[in-house]
Amino acid sequence: MTRTPIRPSRSYPPWPASLPPAPGDLRVLQAFVNTRDIEGGTDELESAAALGAWLAAWGLLPEGTALGTADLEQARAVREALRRLLLANNGAPLDKRAVEILDRAADKAPLRARFSPDGAVGLEPAAPSWQGALARLLELVVAAWIEGLWPRLKACPNDECQWAFYDFSKNRSSKWCTMKRCGNLMNARAYRKRRKSQRG
Ligand SMILES: [Zn+2]
Repeated sequence: MTRTPIRPSRSYPPWPASLPPAPGDLRVLQAFVNTRDIEGGTDELESAAALGAWLAAWGLLPEGTALGTADLEQARAVREALRRLLLANNGAPLDKRAVEILDRAADKAPLRARFSPDGAVGLEPAAPSWQGALARLLELVVAAWIEGLWPRLKACPNDECQWAFYDFSKNRSSKWCTMKRCGNLMNARAYRKRRKSQRG
C-alpha cells in the first residue's frame, strides 16, 4: 500500500527556478515556510483569506473555507517555528520555544486515517479547518522523519534569506539555499572578513 499523496488543486506556486522542490509532499511544507520572502519583504499569507486560498491551492483545505485572524496568527507562528527547526537541521542551535509552539499547535490538530478505493492510505485532516490543514502540515513533518528525509530540509543560514531548501547533496553537506543566491555572496563576505582581520 502506498501513502495517499496531497493533490494540489492547481499547479501552484511558481517555484523559483533556482530552488528545486523537496521530494514528494515535503515540497508543500517547503512552500509553506517560503510563503514569507524575508529578502523581498513580502508575505503570501498577508490575510486570513490569503491563508485560506494558499491552503486550498495546495489541496489542504476545501475552497472557500472561512478562516479567522487567530488562524492566520497561528499559521505565521507555526511557519516561523518550522523555519527555526530547519535552521537547526542546518547546524543552528535548536530553538526550544519553536518546539513548544509546534507541540502546542499540534494539540488541536485532528487527523484520521483515510483509505482510498485503490487501497492507498494516509492520514488526513478530520475537519475542513485551519486546524485540519495544520494537522496535515505536521503530518508531513512526521512522514519526513519516518522516511529519513527530514534532516535534509534546511533553512538558509543567511539571515536576510532563510529560505527553506532541500539538501540533495550525497553527504548532506549543503549549507546555502543555492550557491547563486547566497553561497557565493556569503563566501565572498567571509573572505573579505578574513582578509580584514589578517591585515589587523
Ligand atoms: Zn539563501
